[in-house]
Amino acid sequence: MEKYFGESTPKLGFGLMRLPKSRGKIDIEQVKTMVDMYMAAGLNYFDTAYVYDGGESERAAKEALVDRYPRESYTLATKLCAWMGAHDEKSAKQQFYTSLERTGAGYFDYYLLHALQAGNYKTYDKYHIWDFVKDQKEKGLIKHWGFSFHASPDILDEILTAHPDAEFVQLQINYSDWENGSVMARENYEMARKHGKSIVVMEPVKGGALANPPSEVQIIFRQADPNASFASWAIRYAASLDGIITVLSGMSNIEQMRDNISYMKNFSPLDSDEQLAIKKAQEAINGIKAIPCTACHYCTDGCPMRIPIPEIFAARNKQLIWGKLKEGKSDYDNAIAAGGAASDCIACGQCENACPQQLKVIDILNSCKKSFGF
Ligand code: SF4
Ligand code: SF4
Repeated sequence: MEKYFGESTPKLGFGLMRLPKSRGKIDIEQVKTMVDMYMAAGLNYFDTAYVYDGGESERAAKEALVDRYPRESYTLATKLCAWMGAHDEKSAKQQFYTSLERTGAGYFDYYLLHALQAGNYKTYDKYHIWDFVKDQKEKGLIKHWGFSFHASPDILDEILTAHPDAEFVQLQINYSDWENGSVMARENYEMARKHGKSIVVMEPVKGGALANPPSEVQIIFRQADPNASFASWAIRYAASLDGIITVLSGMSNIEQMRDNISYMKNFSPLDSDEQLAIKKAQEAINGIKAIPCTACHYCTDGCPMRIPIPEIFAARNKQLIWGKLKEGKSDYDNAIAAGGAASDCIACGQCENACPQQLKVIDILNSCKKSFGF
């Protein structure tokens, strides 16, 4: 393995996207405990974003981390989203200053242009954000910059050719999406490496889905190692790839933190038998037709019919993956109680432009409508 940027970074990053909540608010005391456990294990990479939780994630980073630990003892990443939470160049750039203020961090170790997708990546050119982050780096307010990416390898090639000084790329990589024709995890990974970029991995557990994979996969992993959690297979798989800076896990409670630390504190890559178990799991998953939604909710804010798209897809997946028809229908009824049903979709296409998985949301909602009756 050749030397690369970020090689010595601990391979488990603490993603602050799905922090624990109590009565609708971030449970800051639990977050503090999780931060303490994580830091005590010698780990130090924290990842938030301007848009996470309407800014509450960045504020939680301040309260649980920045106000309690010496600045040099951890690294903090956050992101600027030019197509969400901004309506012009000024408001997009303002996100950077707001993030500095919310976190109180003084500077960012890693700064990312957030969620570049086919329908929006040119907004970053239009608003001159590439030059803006380079200026902030020159001022010492950013140590390293890159971008998170949710599109096809040809677009990644185009962006990295136009911006060869990007220091890293954040990509969705997990064993179940490695050969997924929508996510194109392998192709994007290979494209980033072809350009010599190091990689931060996001969604290694596929929004939590691989922590509780289909029964066929559970049997494979149980046989290979009865003591390893299902999430551990997913995170170690991603961390075993060449050129990885860190693997982000959006931990939501103390138990997840404890489990992740148990195998990532002294990380060892998957051995050949373990890689074989992953291969069998990939084959098993490829045989199941489920909706590959990661519940990121990027699609929901702009839906004029207030359709709870990821909740509807989760309800349908309960039927498709587990065969639980009654429970899936009950989840569907609960999901649409405060919003629109699948049949309310007016096919405006907003959700499909926002979806990092490039899901054909309108078609899938249509099939959900047929399954659930409306
Ligand atoms: S296409 Fe349908 S689900 Fe998507 S945003 Fe429009 S109304 Fe909502
Ligand atoms: S449909 Fe797409 S944008 Fe919406 S939650 Fe699922 S993965 Fe995210």
